[in-house]
This record gives sequence, structure tokens and C-alpha cells, in this order.
Amino acid sequence: MALTGLQIFKLLPKTNCGECGIPTCMAFAMKLAAKNADLAACPYASDEAKKIVGAASRPPIRLVKIGPPEREVAVGNETVMFRHEKTFVHPTAIAIAFGDDEPISEACHRIAEAREYCLERVGEKLRLDLILVDNFSEEVQPFAALVKTVAGATGMGVILRSANPAALEAGLRILEGQRPLIHAATPANAEAMAALALKYNASLVARAATLDELAALTRKLAGLGVKDMVLDLPAGNPASTLQNNTIIRKMALKNAYEPLGYPIINFAAGHDTVSVLADACTYMCKYASILVLDRMQLELLLPLMMLRQNIYTDPQKPIQVEPKLYAVGDPGPDSPVIATTNFSLTYFLVSGEIENSGVPAHLLIVESEGMSVLTAWAAGKFTGVKVGAAVKSCGVEKQLNRRRLIIPGFVAQISGEVEEALPGWEVLVGPGEAADLGPFLKRQAAR
Ligand code: SF4
Repeated sequence: MALTGLQIFKLLPKTNCGECGIPTCMAFAMKLAAKNADLAACPYASDEAKKIVGAASRPPIRLVKIGPPEREVAVGNETVMFRHEKTFVHPTAIAIAFGDDEPISEACHRIAEAREYCLERVGEKLRLDLILVDNFSEEVQPFAALVKTVAGATGMGVILRSANPAALEAGLRILEGQRPLIHAATPANAEAMAALALKYNASLVARAATLDELAALTRKLAGLGVKDMVLDLPAGNPASTLQNNTIIRKMALKNAYEPLGYPIINFAAGHDTVSVLADACTYMCKYASILVLDRMQLELLLPLMMLRQNIYTDPQKPIQVEPKLYAVGDPGPDSPVIATTNFSLTYFLVSGEIENSGVPAHLLIVESEGMSVLTAWAAGKFTGVKVGAAVKSCGVEKQLNRRRLIIPGFVAQISGEVEEALPGWEVLVGPGEAADLGPFLKRQAAR
């Protein structure tokens, strides 16, 4: 159970020495209670304090790591119901399922596709995280062969799904040291699955038909020594899955109910791609930690990757690019300088439009704490003085014969200030929307 600041304060030395970086023990206790500090920062904390505060600050949803160190996937450790309260921490891991009922030679190219899949968006590389190997054949040999192929070809973390303990053990032997996830322990096979998970240092999915059974199962598995678990509560339809996911999250976060304090795995499958996508998006929003897709389909992955990136971007830390001068095309001494903010989306939209226009330009990204143009201007982060200073410090002046600076149309009001800061420069007000930048640049180039 979480402790209050006052309860934590009573456990601290109360000397106000400040060595933790906070002036008083009370202020440090408040930060600990808000989970904004680590007790390790106080060199004088007693063993009793470490024990009590450590237990109280344990994450309400366990952090589970899957896969070999070089492609490790971490799920869980979430602390809020809604992204705007703070942030969601570990993005939903997307897994693609492969079955051992088809010849490996036929699955090989799709396995390679899963390995190679990479979507680059606003400077981030978005990839698949895990592979699920399904033991449809219910035999050991084809399952083991597919596990070996997947592990060797992708290097990604693997989820092993089988009802056959012998097949699971064969797969686990192949994946030794790679921390796979076993699917699944049920009330009927809990002891056998727990033994496998412990023997091969694997995480274990706990699967049950009802919430009560699931809680009883995780308690049992924990009693057998299994720590890293993932919850699977199958439901007949997406609405019930959504309801189950929400109840599990709420029980873990609001009631500190340990038996349900684990990440959740959901499965999206079916013939109709649009329905699969709708289900997958629903689960990703609330609160799938692992999402398994039954196919490697690009039109399914694109929206999911974008949705995941949007959900798991820290709302308090917008994605930013480095503030500096970028050459777009091959700008020369007569090319214009275009100034904008360092919000990633703004950078990629503006640089894309310049590139598409075929008119080379110097793109000056001004430090503005990752805000979009209007927000940055309203917050005093994108002013004429700041733009002028950025132009001077980036060294572009030395490269130019003709000094032309284009500022975004939404902040036309700072043009006078920019002119004052940059004597000898021609300051032009560009369009408000990036989409209009191409025609604007072409008109300027023709002048
Ligand atoms: Fe108090 Fe420890 Fe911080 Fe010193 S280092 S102010 S004793 S919490």
C-alpha cells in the first residue's frame, strides 16, 4: 500500500542535511510519496526505512522483461489509468503469430518480413517486438523446428504457445538464456508450467476463465515461486475484453490488488482486416501490454504503429529534433533560410514540403522546447529576439550572398522584431500551413 509523505517522513533521519539534493527531509518525503524521488538518494536512510519504503514504492503493475538482452522488450510498470495524468511508460509490445502447421519454407519469408519491418516516423524507428510460435500441430518436432528458425532468423523475443508440455520444454531448451514467455499456465496445469518457467528462467502467462480464477491462479503461481507473469483473460468479444482490461488495471492501480498487478496480453484475430484493426486499436488504448496479431499485414501494422507512438509519447515531453541549421536539398548562397520550431512533427512536415518543392533551402530549427509554432509563440519561446539570435549563432550568414529569412505565417506579428534583430536581412512572412510552403518557395525562387 502506498505511504503518505508524512508516514515516509517519520522514517527519515530528520536532519535536513540536504545531501539528497532536496533541502529538507519533509520535502524529500513528499517527493518519495509522489514517486518523484528514490530513497537511495538519502545516504542516511535506515534499513527499516529501506524495507518499508521499498515495499510501498514497488510498482503496482510488475515490470516484465522478455527476449534476449539485445532485443529486450519491457512491459508493465504502469502507474496511471489515463495518459494525461502522467504518462504511459512501456509501449504495447506488438507480436506476430506463426503456426507450426505450415512448412517452414513457406513461413520463412514472412518471418524475414517481421524481422525487417521498420516504419520511420518523426525521427523514430517503429518495429515489431515479439514473435509468437503456435503449436497448432500439437507435436514436438515441428514446434521445435519453427522456434529454432524464428529465434535464429529474427533474434527477437519469443512467446511459446502450446498445450503440450513436451513441446514447450523443447522450445524452452532452444531459447535458453533468451527469456521467452510461456503461454499458458491454467488452473489445471499450474504446477507443471511453474516448474518449466522456473527451470528455464522464462516469464509465464496466467490464463483463466474469470477474474476470480485468474487472481487465484496468479496467487498460486506466486506461491510456487513465479514472479514474472502476464495475464490472459479470454473474452468472447472486444467489449468484454475492454471491460476486463479496465477492471484489471483499476484493481492493480487503485486498489493495489497484487494478484492482478501484472501486464495483460490480448489477441486480435479474424478474417476481416478492418475488424481486427478495430479490436487491436481498442486493446492498445486500454490496456494491452502485449498485443498478438495473427498475421503479418502491412496495412494493419501502419495504423497500429502510429497509434502506439501517439499513445506512448510522454505528453509532458513533446518529441523534439535538435535545434540547428539543416540543409534541405542542396542549398547554396542564394537559398532562403526558413525558421521554425523544434517540434518533431513541425520539422518533418516543413522539411518534407521543402524537399517536395524542389527548391533547396536552409532550415533553421529554433530551440522552443518541442512546441508547435503558435504554442511556442504564445509561451514566449519563439520570439523575434530568439529567432534573430538563432540565425546569428548558427553561422548561416557566412554562407549567404542574399540574406532572406522566411518565418511561419502564424507568427507574422514577430516580423518587425526579427527585422530589428537582423539588420540587413529581408524578412518574409511565409504561409501558415506547411502544405502551402512548396508553391510559396517556387514563387520566391522565380523572383
Ligand atoms: Fe533528510 Fe536524508 Fe535528505 Fe539529508 S539526505 S535531507 S537526512 S532525506
